[in-house]
Amino acid sequence: MPLVIAMDGPSGSGKSSASKGVARALGLRYLDTGAMYRAVTWWMLREGVPVRDAAAVAARAGEPVIESGTDPGAPSIAVDGTDVSGPIRTREVTNAVSAVSSVPEVRARLVALQREIIGTGGIVVEGRDIGTVVVPDAPVKVYLTASEEVRAQRRARDLATDPAASVTLTQAEQARRDRLDSTRTTSPLTRADGAHEIDSTEMGLGEVIEAVVRLAKETQT
Ligand code: C5P
Repeated sequence: MPLVIAMDGPSGSGKSSASKGVARALGLRYLDTGAMYRAVTWWMLREGVPVRDAAAVAARAGEPVIESGTDPGAPSIAVDGTDVSGPIRTREVTNAVSAVSSVPEVRARLVALQREIIGTGGIVVEGRDIGTVVVPDAPVKVYLTASEEVRAQRRARDLATDPAASVTLTQAEQARRDRLDSTRTTSPLTRADGAHEIDSTEMGLGEVIEAVVRLAKETQT
């Protein structure tokens, strides 16, 4: 099977930077599945769908048309033809996404789309259920973690332009999101069978990228 690298882990573990770096280093495509769940959430909020009402979300799950670009140098995400790369990163979307992503109809639709994009491979895919559900036979599976404090610091740095995003608040919101993502009934975040766990608490981005590239090269020899 052509190379598929499944990168799962909680928020703020450094998955996005590491996944893009690995894709660039190996000349692979890159798919950010979290951006797809965020895009559906953005659409539901815009449509006024009560996002904590699973039946209401399920009823509209088939409507938004999601398009994901797979260039690791310029990842893109659009809904119904509108670029939503910026709006999907707001706190409003971030705090609503776990409710939307727990709805089985949303997951079924996005997983089908993800498998279509992955196709025959040559791609780094980041998310929460890539190694467990989307591509369980991926040749390389990574479960990336970091301590809660370091993850909150990284998230707060990402959100530096938002004055409300203090480390303490980010940590509380992140802990809540991780709890929801790990305890939901459908495809909870969990380490996949055969996944290599990398704890990036004390590692720089370059070291994480190197470690994953090494794993990928090992599987190909
Ligand atoms: O990775 P990111 O933080 O952008 O993901 C946003 C949310 O999308 C997660 O908190 C989770 O609820 C959902 N998600 C998911 N399955 C994936 C990727 C993301 O449920 N494969």
